[in-house]
Amino acid sequence: MATHQQLVLASGAHITDLLQTKQLQISGFRGQVSHIPAQGELAQLATVICANGYLTPQHNKQHCVGASYVKDPQHLNFCPQEQHENSLKMKQSFPHSNWPNDIDVSNSDARVGVRMVSRDHFPVMGCATDVDELFKRYAIQQQSKDKPSQWQRYWQTTPAPIYEGLYVLGGLGSRGLSSWLTRCRMFSRKSLRPTVTC
Ligand SMILES: Cc1cc2nc3c(=O)[nH]c(=O)nc-3n(C[C@H](O)[C@H](O)[C@H](O)COP(=O)(O)OP(=O)(O)OC[C@H]3O[C@@H](n4cnc5c(N)ncnc54)[C@H](O)[C@@H]3O)c2cc1C
Repeated sequence: MATHQQLVLASGAHITDLLQTKQLQISGFRGQVSHIPAQGELAQLATVICANGYLTPQHNKQHCVGASYVKDPQHLNFCPQEQHENSLKMKQSFPHSNWPNDIDVSNSDARVGVRMVSRDHFPVMGCATDVDELFKRYAIQQQSKDKPSQWQRYWQTTPAPIYEGLYVLGGLGSRGLSSWLTRCRMFSRKSLRPTVTC
């Protein structure tokens, strides 16, 4: 079996599959994007619209409109209800316009995926935190009679417990496609230096 000094997990929705990462505070949110035919006024769209959801200009006579956002999904099959909700997003954003009526989701064409999202919606990247150990220390703090300022100082000055050599790059949420380049640069500069600092 090959052994390596450093391992980077960038496995998307599977990033929490391992014993060392299952406690990371990051959750899967299902998303369904509907693929709809370019027709009527809608076909003239020349730029991406970001409003209540998003709509792209046509590509190969199809637009994308979406997306749903469902925590801890039970399945990743096509969902008619989410398809219907996608059809309403532009109508809700532009109630006085006619072109949203050209949005037709009846072909049931869509793509379903999972985004991994942290609580503060920031990416989770860098050294893999040993969350069990972190929670143990926090439990000690909860039971202690120390002044709060003592613990504040502790958390500010003590490096977080980590799994040496294990790194994570995930939790890119709904913006992973648009932000991956910056995130990867930040990650490689901060985490993968010859001398690792966290
Ligand atoms: C419906 C939907 C719409 C979205 N729309 C947008 C958008 O418009 N703009 C935008 O910026 N972002 C969008 N996103 C978010 C974007 O897709 C994600 O943020 C991004 O894909 C996350 O990148 P990632 O590399 O962390 O994970 P992924 O893209 O999921 O890549 C992880 C990869 O790791 C592989 N993998 C998993 N386990 C293993 C393993 N054990 N060994 C080897 N390989 C493994 C997987 O096969 C996969 O190829 C959308 C997401 C969804 C679900």
